[in-house]
Amino acid sequence: MPKNITASDFTRRLGDHYPDEQCHLDYDKDRPWTLLFAVILSAQCTDKRVNMVTPTLFSEFPDLGAYVAKPIETLESTIHSTGFYRNKARSIHKCAGQLLLKHNGVVPDTMEALTDLAGVGRKTANVILWNLFRKNIGFVVDTHVGRIAQRVGLSRQKTPVAIEKDLMKKLPQNKWGLLSHQLVQFGRDFCKAPRPKCEACFLNDICPKKGL
Ligand code: SF4
Repeated sequence: MPKNITASDFTRRLGDHYPDEQCHLDYDKDRPWTLLFAVILSAQCTDKRVNMVTPTLFSEFPDLGAYVAKPIETLESTIHSTGFYRNKARSIHKCAGQLLLKHNGVVPDTMEALTDLAGVGRKTANVILWNLFRKNIGFVVDTHVGRIAQRVGLSRQKTPVAIEKDLMKKLPQNKWGLLSHQLVQFGRDFCKAPRPKCEACFLNDICPKKGL
């Protein structure tokens, strides 16, 4: 059994299999905050479900002012099916106000400013920094990425922040954003929880956890 996967093999094979992997959330490029709100809605929810909700959301709430002006109950009802709708509505309502007051309605492009916004942690900020600004500042560590990092031996840590630090140490910075999306898709397609599809996996000759 292989002892450890190397960062270069891992990166190359993911790149070969998912050469152009992107965020699957739909948003309006002319209104970059739509991606921010879509990512907030995607917590504990599938991209598919979020993409069913956001066309109505972005038409009923076409600009940031609408999120502040309209009753929060209207927002709750529109995003209800994404789950945790009260918390998400509160975050989006507050975030819209912060964007207007502190950033002139523009989504900021630094980790510090993004994580100051309501409902935005490092994971969401990394999605925004890569997809809107093509900045490789960190890794998007969701449940898929955390699980894969542990299985293939790139991290022994348990928390997303500590796993992200390990990935940033071991994988090339110019690929962090792309790799994040490749890993999320790899987790959906092959390295699933609880049963990975090791026989079909394109890393199975170099993965220390194959079949375990
Ligand atoms: S061989 Fe199995 S455990 Fe290893 S990366 Fe592939 S699916 Fe995951």
